[in-house]
Amino acid sequence: MLTGFDPDRPGKHFCEIAVPQGAGPGVVAESLCCIRNGDGPTVVLTGGIHGDEYEPQIVLRGLAASIAPHEVTGRLIIVPSLNFPASQTGRRIAGADGKNMNRVFPGNAGGTPTEQLAAVLGQQLFGLADLLIDAHAGGRDATVVPMIFGFSNDRCKVGPAALKRIMESWGYRYIEHVGGIDTTACGAAFRADIASIEIEGGGGGRLDPSELAIMRDGILRGLAAAGVLAPRLTPIAFQGVHLSVGAANQVVAPAAGLIEHLCRIGDIVATGQVIARLHPLAGSTADAIDIACPKEGHLLRQTHSVHVAKGQFVANTGSAMA
Ligand SMILES: [Zn+2]
Repeated sequence: MLTGFDPDRPGKHFCEIAVPQGAGPGVVAESLCCIRNGDGPTVVLTGGIHGDEYEPQIVLRGLAASIAPHEVTGRLIIVPSLNFPASQTGRRIAGADGKNMNRVFPGNAGGTPTEQLAAVLGQQLFGLADLLIDAHAGGRDATVVPMIFGFSNDRCKVGPAALKRIMESWGYRYIEHVGGIDTTACGAAFRADIASIEIEGGGGGRLDPSELAIMRDGILRGLAAAGVLAPRLTPIAFQGVHLSVGAANQVVAPAAGLIEHLCRIGDIVATGQVIARLHPLAGSTADAIDIACPKEGHLLRQTHSVHVAKGQFVANTGSAMA
């Protein structure tokens, strides 16, 4: 699975994550980059757990190529496209087993291809990590504001106060507070007493240069705040908001139909405000159904799909915390 990896080797080296048997067409391996320089924290930076989230994969490949060992204190491990069988086909999940990688952590070295690749992170890299940073994006089906959330407890080497400081250094406007899911990369790391951060941003089936820059700059600031990378950018004071996001913030389609968004991500919306219309797919009426915001806050994410099924995700808000 992971060959040529020497976590104690000084300097920068690339090694290979090999594809499990039958995981996907044509693709044999993905690179893992390990940069080691002296004593300091170990930060593991992952992208591409969902294959259609391309912003993190581009940004992380660029960082792996450009970061020199003298910039690092400690150890920085970068995996740009962990779920590369999915990435190579432009899909959120790999076709070989149809499993959502972000629901199978810490993985299973004897399991399906997706579970085996998850185990590279969850079983081989978690043991080295003081902090996991897992980068996501909106993918083909959603657009999302740049935002960040994380998990820590007093048993983690990066404790709750340090994690808050690192997240606020990112320069993102939105820090989410969410209930964790144990089988995500960040959830599984937290269960293993490793502090974890997940970031989001972009998507919508296209690459926006500004989203790439926001993600790259945020990661550079975050790595500097974590003490593993010399600062390349001037730190900026936190001017964002802490938001709570729960089940009450979720908006789903009341029926199958065609979604017309009436607001943009980043807008502040009120409880009861009509934020989208659902147009009928068929029949003699042209009447649309108004979709009201269930809980006030900042509009964080919207479906990019016009056609939605009953119960399908439409949008979600985040409500400012006191
Ligand atoms: Zn994702």
